[in-house]
Amino acid sequence: MLKKSFLLFSLLFLFITILKCQTYNIVIKGGHVIDAKNNINGIMDVAVNDGKIALVAKNIDARQGRQVVDAKGKYVTPGLIDMHEHVFAGTEPDHYLSNGLDALPPDGFTFRVGVTTVVDCGGAGWKSFPTFKKNIIDHSYTRVLSFLNIVGEGMRGGAYEQDANDMNSKLSANAARQYKDYIVGFKVAHYEAAEWTPVDRAVEAGKLADIPVIVDFGGDDTHPPLSIEDLFFKHLRPGDIYTHTFTELDRRDPIVDLKSRQLKPFVKDAQKKGIIFDVGYGGGSFDFRQALPAIKAGFFPNTMSTDLHTGSMNAAMKDMLNVMSTFVAMGMDVPAVIKAGTWAPAQAIKHEELGNLSVGAVADIAVLNMRQGDFGLWDRMGYKVNAKQNFECEMTIRGGKIVYDLNGIATPIVLTDAKASGH
Ligand SMILES: [Zn+2]
Repeated sequence: MLKKSFLLFSLLFLFITILKCQTYNIVIKGGHVIDAKNNINGIMDVAVNDGKIALVAKNIDARQGRQVVDAKGKYVTPGLIDMHEHVFAGTEPDHYLSNGLDALPPDGFTFRVGVTTVVDCGGAGWKSFPTFKKNIIDHSYTRVLSFLNIVGEGMRGGAYEQDANDMNSKLSANAARQYKDYIVGFKVAHYEAAEWTPVDRAVEAGKLADIPVIVDFGGDDTHPPLSIEDLFFKHLRPGDIYTHTFTELDRRDPIVDLKSRQLKPFVKDAQKKGIIFDVGYGGGSFDFRQALPAIKAGFFPNTMSTDLHTGSMNAAMKDMLNVMSTFVAMGMDVPAVIKAGTWAPAQAIKHEELGNLSVGAVADIAVLNMRQGDFGLWDRMGYKVNAKQNFECEMTIRGGKIVYDLNGIATPIVLTDAKASGH
């Protein structure tokens, strides 16, 4: 009996010793790390422990990891931040992107493309935010934040979004303060009258709550459209965000002049002033006729984003990686594209604890392949760009747990059941 317990004790001791040697939950070996905040762009190992980044170094012993990820030949980046999505999914009829059927539940569309944080872009207003939090934010393993719509009812479509009486700066700012962990700014969208009221009310709320405004400029009947030059220089503040940058819809004043096909000279000045230019690709808001001349003129967007909803994901846009691949194909270099999908949006939404791999930061990580081959990237007008490379998500880690592993590159393969992990 004594012998048996001694044996058990020895085994236990041995087991604890082995566990002690394994300092980290995960060691990611040999990947090409791109971390804009920390100026890292090279082959490095990354160790994760207790949900946080524990170490980024040239050579971390694989034996120190309980799980080891072989990332040779792949990019290792902070988890992607898509700051323009529509995830206030629901079943209410005629509710468009606010608890309606056109919005999508985040977890089904994020981890498989390296995204760990999304900002819902105006789905909820101050009246509907509690429902959004209860139904979506609290039940998603993806980190979900919100640009609160300046319309109290949120993005319900139709007459709701045209009601200037429901654009209350004070009540919107109050909600932003009450839910400051989730609300990162205010959204203006779809307003049809050629008036500045929605923009100015949102900026007023932004001043009260000290957060930025994101503008989807004009509505279907805004003819002629209001001037973007006035928007950038007379109405928005440095740090405010212009989404749908590369749109060529007749309801919006475009950044590239329609006759000369040249970038309008004030656009770079606006970016210098501090206006953040966001892609917001969407169903109809990205056009190569705008993007190619802009990039040729040396103008690059600050932030990548999808404008994900049922209308965009099965059209030209598809997902965050397709949007990023489109900019690589147009000549934006890979580290700049990664920065625009990680550190730049983290700064834009004033959540600088995200979008980087600093030691102690939350371990949200994407492992990406750059596939080589023949790829076609096209826009809503049918213009097609042939590409030789395309991003693909190999693995996503959220809060230190592997939540997506395309080819089983972790050893041993242990996938976190996000729903069972008690987050
Ligand atoms: Zn949108």
